[in-house]
Amino acid sequence: MRSYEETIRRLSQIPDLSISVAEPLSRHTRFGVGGAADVYVETAVESSFIAALLEARASGGDSTVIGSGTNLIVADDGFRGIVLRFTGADISQTGLCVEAQAGAELQQLVDFSIDRGLKGIETMTGIPGAVGAAVYGNAGAYGHSIMERVQQVRFFDGATIRLFTNAECEFHYRESVFKRHKDWVIFSTNLHLDAAPAGELRESAGAILKIRNEKYPPTMKCAGSIFKNLILADLALNVQSQVPARVIREGKVPSAWFLEEVGAKGIKNGDIHVADYHANLIFNAGNGTARQLREVIDDLKSRVDHRFGLLLEEEVQYVGFESNGS
Ligand SMILES: Cc1cc2nc3c(=O)[nH]c(=O)nc-3n(C[C@H](O)[C@H](O)[C@H](O)COP(=O)(O)OP(=O)(O)OC[C@H]3O[C@@H](n4cnc5c(N)ncnc54)[C@H](O)[C@@H]3O)c2cc1C
Repeated sequence: MRSYEETIRRLSQIPDLSISVAEPLSRHTRFGVGGAADVYVETAVESSFIAALLEARASGGDSTVIGSGTNLIVADDGFRGIVLRFTGADISQTGLCVEAQAGAELQQLVDFSIDRGLKGIETMTGIPGAVGAAVYGNAGAYGHSIMERVQQVRFFDGATIRLFTNAECEFHYRESVFKRHKDWVIFSTNLHLDAAPAGELRESAGAILKIRNEKYPPTMKCAGSIFKNLILADLALNVQSQVPARVIREGKVPSAWFLEEVGAKGIKNGDIHVADYHANLIFNAGNGTARQLREVIDDLKSRVDHRFGLLLEEEVQYVGFESNGS
């Protein structure tokens, strides 16, 4: 394994790369928990990002890629290795197609599309985070997800830049091929949208944003929903039979329903709280730690497992726990 000093020396020769040593990752996550990364680098230039990624991998240590940190839990001990972030944020339009770089905030892309009278992603208004991670996790809300609009995704597979069609992305609910290839890095995506009056789009997005801001106040330190919802048809018959029809939406059962049934609302562990109005929302009320957060998550999973024989799956992604570097 290359020495730490040698890796930093090599990284500093890459143009347009900003490098920080012992960078607190709590600054880069909305939860505001977690320790430092040995090295944190970011750049808006693809060639510099690739050079840094290859350098990180050649160093023999761990590395991982993050976006805006709105869906991350970083361990209290931080990340031993190199954390990379691609910040290229160009957005452009050709007819009904919009192309966005992975580092653009999803909200910028939503606003850009609405302003140009392009319909298809306005229900994603208010979902925090960057475009790359939205593709990675097939982000969505209000019955729609980004997979419905993605035409192509451009990414680096560790050796070359490749282009995937929508089908090749293997999108499912909060899933894509990129979640199974954590060493691939998304650089940009093309979306196909429909024409619609900008005023109408703005109105429906505004109504959604109002509801979202009540549920997730903009200053709340959280990751949105902690657990994925469940596909009704995938549940065991004895579990399906316990779920009231009124909670089923588009063939899914909100994990919040199971969590509510096991008394999750309002649970507290230090400054880590489960919202008293939403059982699938955990937030950091001030000085919570990643350990406390994991304890609450594990407690909720075991309660649901015990009562329903069902293993909830986290939507949130972990950094610095066990071996999750790429
Ligand atoms: C208040 C709140 C509300 C939310 N509501 C919703 C919602 O309604 N619907 C929804 O779907 N999500 C929601 N989320 C979750 C979050 O917004 C999404 O998961 C978002 O897509 C994460 O983006 P990010 O840039 O912050 O990614 P990060 O949290 O930084 O990273 C998430 C994952 O993406 C990977 N990643 C990041 N960039 C790239 C890249 N360029 N290439 C490959 N992999 C990459 C990372 O490795 C990591 O595993 C909410 C979060 C919050 C805080």
